[in-house]
Amino acid sequence: MRGTEADVRPSRASEGPSVDRDDASAAFFDAAARQRLAVRRCIGGDGLFAPEVERCPRCGGALGWIDVSGHAQLVSWAVVHRSPHPAFAELVPFVTAVVELDEGPWLHARLVVDDASRLEPGLALAVAFAQPPGGESVPYFVVATGGVRRP
Ligand SMILES: [Zn+2]
Repeated sequence: MRGTEADVRPSRASEGPSVDRDDASAAFFDAAARQRLAVRRCIGGDGLFAPEVERCPRCGGALGWIDVSGHAQLVSWAVVHRSPHPAFAELVPFVTAVVELDEGPWLHARLVVDDASRLEPGLALAVAFAQPPGGESVPYFVVATGGVRRP
């Protein structure tokens, strides 16, 4: 369930460079097209891992995919003032963040906020999806209603 639509600013949400899928990321982008965030799950165990993980770090086994809630908390962030690529030039300054999903895995993602000076560790976040023209639906995070859940 996503209760943060009011926090999403469509003018920013639609921005960003387009991203193309490959075989390894196809299931991730299929989920994103359904407005769902997917992470890796150990097929032989119960561990959940970030989308870019290719083999289970615990047992070495194969990984499947599972949709998660999209709820997270802020771990760390940086405000990017100088565009790392021409495709990001109109986005600067923007916030890049490490977030901890409620289900455990940590993700690197863009965080769309009005005022980066008000960010703090533990801030409750929710996933949203950008739809760059011609590319895949791409998750980013926004501040959820409810504020800080853990100090
Ligand atoms: Zn495993």
